[in-house]
Parts: sequence; C-alpha cells; structure tokens
Amino acid sequence: MRKLAAGNWKMNGTAANLTEVTALAQAHPTPACDVLLCPPATLVSRMADVARGTAIKVGGQDCHAKSSGAHTGDISAEMLLESGASYVILGHSERRTDHGETDAQVQAKAAAALAAGLVAVVCIGETEAERDAGRTLDVVGTQLHGSVPDGATAANLVIAYEPVWAIGTGRTPTLPEIADVHAFIRTRLTARIGQQQAAGVRLLYGGSVKPSNATEIFALPNVDGALVGGASLKAADFGAIISAL
Ligand code: PEP
Repeated sequence: MRKLAAGNWKMNGTAANLTEVTALAQAHPTPACDVLLCPPATLVSRMADVARGTAIKVGGQDCHAKSSGAHTGDISAEMLLESGASYVILGHSERRTDHGETDAQVQAKAAAALAAGLVAVVCIGETEAERDAGRTLDVVGTQLHGSVPDGATAANLVIAYEPVWAIGTGRTPTLPEIADVHAFIRTRLTARIGQQQAAGVRLLYGGSVKPSNATEIFALPNVDGALVGGASLKAADFGAIISAL
C-alpha cells in the first residue's frame, strides 16, 4: 500500500506561508508516498491553487456533519471539496478537548465526509492518565468503534493513532508500544469493516514525529505513514519526513 505523510498545520499559517508548499513541491516532485497538507480552513482554497499539478494533496481539519444550514462558523464536507480539499482530519484530540467532540459526533462527521467524496482521517488516542492506568487499548478500541462510519473502506478511511500526551510534547511511546497499538487497531478494524478493506486502510502514527525519529517509526509493522503537526510547517522538516517514508 502507498504510505501517507499528512501534515496538520492546526491554527497556523497565513498566505505568506504558502511559499513552504511551493518549496515542498519543488523538492519532492515525485514522492514515494502520498503527501497531504491540512491548513486552516481560510487557506484550503489558496493552498489547493498552489498545489495544483503537484504531488501535494490538500485537506481540511474538521467539517460539520450536515451539508448546510444554521451552523454559524462551521463548514461542510461539500464546501471543503469545492475548495479543493480531498481529505479531512476528524476527531483530532484538540477538537475533542477544545470542542468536546464525542465519538458519535466524529462518526457523523466522517459519514458526511465519505458522502461528499472526501477521505476521512479519523484520529484516536489515549491521554497520559489513561495510559498510566493501563487503559490504552480499551480507550483506542472504544474510540475506533465509535468513530468509524458505516461504508468506510480502504479508499476513503485513514486512521491516525495519536497518543494525546505525545502531541506537541517531544515525547513518543516506545517503538514496541506503537507497534502494539497499531496491530490492535488493525485487528479491531478487521472486525469492523472486514479483512479485505481493513488490510488496506492506512494507519498513521502521530505525536512528535520529526525527521530524527521518522525512519524508525515508519519501519514498524502496521505503520503506514504519519500525521505530523509542528514538523509539517516547514518544507525542510516535512520533506525530510517524506523522504523517510
Ligand atoms: C498533530 O497535531 O496531529 C500532531 C501529531 O502534532 P505534533 O506532530 O506537533 O506532535
């Protein structure tokens, strides 16, 4: 399967930062993996213009479960698609924390994304307290079951395992710990959507991935790429991660 290097710019970036996209595209005209950048909603359309004709795909960071209506401040999957997005990140831990998003809401958003023709990148992961309590697999299994929509396939679903305590902290689980959780996700996904589809779903690791640790993480079984926050903002850093895939 073709791996995926996905960048999450979070609430960072204005038009001036699009030079990074141009630099990334020039440095990696034919990458060995799929490359995705998810800027703030304000930049989706402009980034899609800059990325047109390159290997870089563009995604949103969230969408509403409805396609239109009285939902001030929200955007729909159809709107993202029209703006040039082909993917959308859903259920990122910052959305679950900042906006109280539940598994059921993430599942509804993912269903809307699939219906619109977007690929849903569904994020799951335990907090530090949950890991310390030995509940990692329990939490990840529950989030996976509750967040994956009906109709998910290898073509329209990506799962990102992101331990909350590893995001933006410089800390990561050990390599065996990452491999264990990814194997568990593959097994649970098989039960949810069947062996044929589950085998092709890309399972990304996310949480403090950087050029210096990317190679060893990507070598793990069932790690099919990365969701990268801080290190996706600069073409040089993200490019080095792309090269490691
Ligand atoms: C993320 O935001 O999804 C993430 C993994 O962030 P960072 O790479 O900065 O830890």
